Amino acid sequence: MYICLFIHSNHTPRCVYLHCEANSNTGSGTSQSKLILHFVGMGFPEKLVAQAIEENGEGNSESILETLLTYSVLENSPQQQKPSDSDHSSSDYYENFDDDLSDSYSWSEDEESTDSLPIKDKTVLALAKMGYTTDEASIAMERCGPGSSIAELTDFICAAQMAKAADPFLLDEEKPKPKRKFFENELWKRKRHRGCDRRMTFEDGETIRLPNPMIGYGVPTELCPTPYRSLPEGAMGPPYFYYENVALAPKGVWDTIKRFLYDVEPEFVDSKYFCAAARKRGYVHNLPINNRFPLLPLPPRTIHEALPLSRRWWPSWDTRTKLNCLQTCIGSAKLTERIRKALEDHQEGEPPLHVQKYVLDECRKWNLVWVGRNKLAPLECDEVEMLLGFPKNHTRGGGISRTDRYKSLGNSFQVDTVAYHLSVLRDLFPGGVKLLSLFSGIGGAEVALHRLGIPLKTVVSVEKSEVNRNIVRSWWEQTNQKGNLIDFNDVQELDGDRLEQLIHSVGGFDIVIGGSPCNNLAGSNRHHRDGLEGKESSLFYDYFRILDLVKCIMAKR
Ligand code: SAH
Repeated sequence: MYICLFIHSNHTPRCVYLHCEANSNTGSGTSQSKLILHFVGMGFPEKLVAQAIEENGEGNSESILETLLTYSVLENSPQQQKPSDSDHSSSDYYENFDDDLSDSYSWSEDEESTDSLPIKDKTVLALAKMGYTTDEASIAMERCGPGSSIAELTDFICAAQMAKAADPFLLDEEKPKPKRKFFENELWKRKRHRGCDRRMTFEDGETIRLPNPMIGYGVPTELCPTPYRSLPEGAMGPPYFYYENVALAPKGVWDTIKRFLYDVEPEFVDSKYFCAAARKRGYVHNLPINNRFPLLPLPPRTIHEALPLSRRWWPSWDTRTKLNCLQTCIGSAKLTERIRKALEDHQEGEPPLHVQKYVLDECRKWNLVWVGRNKLAPLECDEVEMLLGFPKNHTRGGGISRTDRYKSLGNSFQVDTVAYHLSVLRDLFPGGVKLLSLFSGIGGAEVALHRLGIPLKTVVSVEKSEVNRNIVRSWWEQTNQKGNLIDFNDVQELDGDRLEQLIHSVGGFDIVIGGSPCNNLAGSNRHHRDGLEGKESSLFYDYFRILDLVKCIMAKR
């Protein structure tokens, strides 16, 4: 429902809070003693704070905090540490944490038991680092009781935020009025009414649970019979649709997505069943699920298979076989240098367990790989391309910076996973497909269809980032596509008139594919975790709006 797009427009984004908090205490005019007091007040020893300030300078409170957290991990006594391979190597660890990697902090049960801070302060600190306010953290701790896990506390906070966001008075006052034309007016009246009902019901309780193992209706590598599924009537095509977003979204998000997308159950799949990196995503679609087939050759499924050169340097105590979710940014040179020093302090044999734990935590958080003795490095862009199933150099050239490459890749589809779901289109559309690609990014869907051997007769691609549009256009030219690529900038510009014209000129769409931005949903970006009503995440409602319009217009035709 469109209304929901704007409910956070007057709310202060979480990141601003975090930065404001840091700046208000550490702004250039503030004395060093005030800065020391700030961190001592968070529970760090004064000596360490002074050392961290000396190392980072007074201006950057975020890196001071990161250094302090690193110190506190390194300072823990070795006897208290458990061997890292027994605590984190289980798939459970990945299930719970891989998409939950805050950029600068990793929280685990072990840290709680070994840190010198009182548990309560440690928990508040951990929640504050995730971007929650201390008020939110305190209320959640009070309501959930002592000993609650971070997951329980964040669930509570998210539920409270969603309840706040669902306030209907707030909605009506804050929403700008979208321009509507033709039948859109009637359509929107209907949808708004239906949507409102839907929005109210999600507070009744979440119905969607994440499956374990996260293999959806099946993956090529796990042999199990395809289950039967019947689609709700309203979900039937044409066109087919395929919507994607992060699986580990705040509570209630998938319930809302499901309600809007015609009550189709999401299919949750972790790409670790397809390649060497985890990527837990939910897919809502009305495609058949029988007779799927994978892209060949099957991609490498372990780190060593994917990155054979790293095997030589891989220490036996690093028991990782899969990478965590590939993110939009990478670990810094400062971090890998700090790790090298920590390892070189212990040249004889294996490093002590507390150092192993520190190193492995950072490796998991930043997907670091071994490139030499005691030398770790973030993945190169072309390695990320390969892991995600894109052709080598897909995002390279044409003036694109490395930062932009990581960003675009971090947001993209895992091609093998998506291709497996889309493979059924090959028999359905032997002559090729007409694709409406919303939030195309670097063209994960287009690449998947092409690699499946499905001709792209027409692609209408809607993508805000010029960098990404250039990547798709360049791929289109390099692969000598015979069809027609039409691009648009902004999904919000696609109104009923535009769509009607487009559908008239291309003769309708066979499938509408899109993964709207997850900025306000993803665990790795807790600072902005406003849920589906966040500034970017609310673009989901545009996916629904456009899909529903396409369905209507095509039905009318
Ligand atoms: N599935 C894509 C990536 C989706 S990430 C892939 O395989 O690469 C979400 C994308 O939505 C980003 O590329 C972002 O630039 C784009 N986006 C954000 N706001 C948008 C808007 N208003 N209109 C169109 N695209 C938008």
